[in-house]
Amino acid sequence: MEEAKHFIGSEWSSSSGGETIEVIDPSDGQPFTRLARGTAADIDRAVQAARRAYEGAWGAANAADRGRVLYRLSMLVTACHEELAKLEARDTGKPLRQARADASALARYFEFYAGAADKLHGETLPYQSGYTVFTIREPHGVTGHIVPWNYPMQIFGRSVGAALAAGNACVVKPAEDACLTVLRVAELAAEAGLPAGALNVVTGYGHEAGAALARHPGINHISFTGSPATGRLVAQMAADNHVPVTLELGGKSPQIVFADADLEAALPVLVSAIVQNAGQTCSAGSRVLIAREIYEPLLDRLGTAFHALRVGPSVADLDCGPLISAKQQQRVWDFLSDAQHDGVAMAAHGEVIAEAPETGFYQAPTLLRDVPPTHRLAREEVFGPVLAAMPFSDEDDAVALANGTPYGLVAGIWTRDGARQLRLARRVRSGQVFINNYGAGGGVELPFGGVGHSGHGREKGFEALYGFTVLKTVAIRHG
Ligand code: NAD
Repeated sequence: MEEAKHFIGSEWSSSSGGETIEVIDPSDGQPFTRLARGTAADIDRAVQAARRAYEGAWGAANAADRGRVLYRLSMLVTACHEELAKLEARDTGKPLRQARADASALARYFEFYAGAADKLHGETLPYQSGYTVFTIREPHGVTGHIVPWNYPMQIFGRSVGAALAAGNACVVKPAEDACLTVLRVAELAAEAGLPAGALNVVTGYGHEAGAALARHPGINHISFTGSPATGRLVAQMAADNHVPVTLELGGKSPQIVFADADLEAALPVLVSAIVQNAGQTCSAGSRVLIAREIYEPLLDRLGTAFHALRVGPSVADLDCGPLISAKQQQRVWDFLSDAQHDGVAMAAHGEVIAEAPETGFYQAPTLLRDVPPTHRLAREEVFGPVLAAMPFSDEDDAVALANGTPYGLVAGIWTRDGARQLRLARRVRSGQVFINNYGAGGGVELPFGGVGHSGHGREKGFEALYGFTVLKTVAIRHG
């Protein structure tokens, strides 16, 4: 495979430092291409290209025309669906059907924001007599987007789709571990008619290209998805220039199962919410809180389901692929060795198939039981296929456990009691609440984001468009 380059001003270019980074296939741990190791100078070039586009052709485009470009991009993504899915599967290790779902979501993001571009209205406001006051939603200008490796296509699509629809020009720094589809989609965007410079992609390491983007004085807004520690750094760098940030930082999302729940419906969702993408999902349902009276029978059924899970290379298209990297695999192993050391019992685990290359970064899905609420496995994001189960005694106890981490991204509540559904939806501290279903990463139309250490600001849905605009108030005194 040809070496990947930056995409700046609709042209491919090497890093100013001339250096490259190996791209590893997580399924076999082997390098298969290289990408440009971006520098501060590359970021600066991309920001300047974006500024020219914003002050030129893209800034002058009307909202309907921006929507048309995004719609053509959605069509091109659909036309290249299989190519993109295969590339994403190879780059991230995820099973092909997950990568196909991601490619479909990417097309849907562009379709959704294409339709929304010319529906972003201001308001007229009552004020003193003799005045007319109205608001206009204007783009920030040049927006920076730092994208993680777990869902490169989806996270790129949701962030850049909304930013472009609102009229911004974008500079994207995808993750060094997985960024090939982002580069390909940027190329498709140019083919769709996006003016040169409206969308630029600079690859490279976070502490180099990522930090250069976060602190660049020419950036007017930063959207970051990744770890809480890096999110804090990005927010601090942006604060030096008084630049607003949207942070999406992951979670320790609970699924709460009451004794009256429809367990037939709940069981497959409890499993898939943690197994999807090998647990490397910010909104993974990584804790299951179970009413004490059904704790043992439900654990038995979960155990049987975990026991049947199979892990293998992306092309084998099993329940789970490998983890993204040796570093991520070590992180998951560290959590599991802490569990073992502290006597947290393993209830069941799946199996890595014998044909999986030994050099791949595999981890069998693991169900842990009776995890003490104070243990790090009940409080910290593992970002691997590890589900922590714990019992609760009543509704108050369930809420206390659910809210007992610094995070608050997504929660699932399983009960047939309508009043309890509404009570819990309000009491659980979380950006999204699903009742009798769970949407790990799903829902292009649904505003998504967290509270506390899960971050702030909202991606997805119409709400994201507000985040990518600045509200201007115009007051006219006419007598
Ligand atoms: P990370 O937060 O370090 O990386 C996310 C993105 O930020 C990447 O593009 C990276 O290059 C960039 N980055 C890293 N350091 C930067 C810096 N100093 N300035 C600017 N940008 C920087 O995540 P990681 O190291 O790849 O993974 C570590 C942990 O983060 C994971 O184990 C997981 O818990 C969490 N994570 C969460 C999400 C999520 O969707 N919430 C996604 C990826 C990782």
